[in-house]
Amino acid sequence: MVCLRVIEEYAHENNIPIMLSDGIDFLTDFIKKNDIKRILEVGSAIGYSAICMAQVSLDIQVVTIERDTLRYNEAVKNINDFGLNDRIEIILADALECDISGDFDLIFIDAAKAQYIKFFEKYKSNLAKDGVIISDNLSFHGMVDNMDSITNRNTRQLVGKIVKYIDFLKNNLEFDTEFISIGDGIGISRRKS
Ligand code: SAH
Ligand code: MG
Repeated sequence: MVCLRVIEEYAHENNIPIMLSDGIDFLTDFIKKNDIKRILEVGSAIGYSAICMAQVSLDIQVVTIERDTLRYNEAVKNINDFGLNDRIEIILADALECDISGDFDLIFIDAAKAQYIKFFEKYKSNLAKDGVIISDNLSFHGMVDNMDSITNRNTRQLVGKIVKYIDFLKNNLEFDTEFISIGDGIGISRRKS
């Protein structure tokens, strides 16, 4: 039996950016308090956050998408080890190229940061009426608030995309977003009433 600690260690040793512990605590608390049952995750990595979310309650179902085969295989193994393969469906695909049916109470976006607007626009049609879209890594290791100190050009570009996504959320006509500086920065978007 694998425990979450083992998955965390594997992630750190292999540079896999799983959620930080205060972020995951916040997310699982949020799921509990808001009675969330159907979750769609964009970006499974090795299944860590999907497993944490599914463990909140026995009646939670998770659909999660990962495009990297190695990570997908590791996630499948971890999900099986936790006996969660009946409640976590993992899909090997690029999330921008696959179609998911059904409505979700929570859509958790935690994949390629440069594509967040696209993920949001694509999957908002899978959001239940009172559902929420949560986006991770909006502070990107604190770099979003310190753009000037970034010397690497690719990093600057990536952080620029996150800044654009934050603007997109702030100016969105359909959704209101609450920004929380927990973990690596989280956005919680709800349809305007
Ligand atoms: N949610 C995970 C961490 C995800 S890391 C956790 O906290 O445990 C981000 C993952 O998103 C990476 O494994 C990466 O391969 C995947 N990813 C990035 N862009 C993607 C895309 N377009 N479609 C599917 N997966 C994607
Ligand atoms: Mg993340």
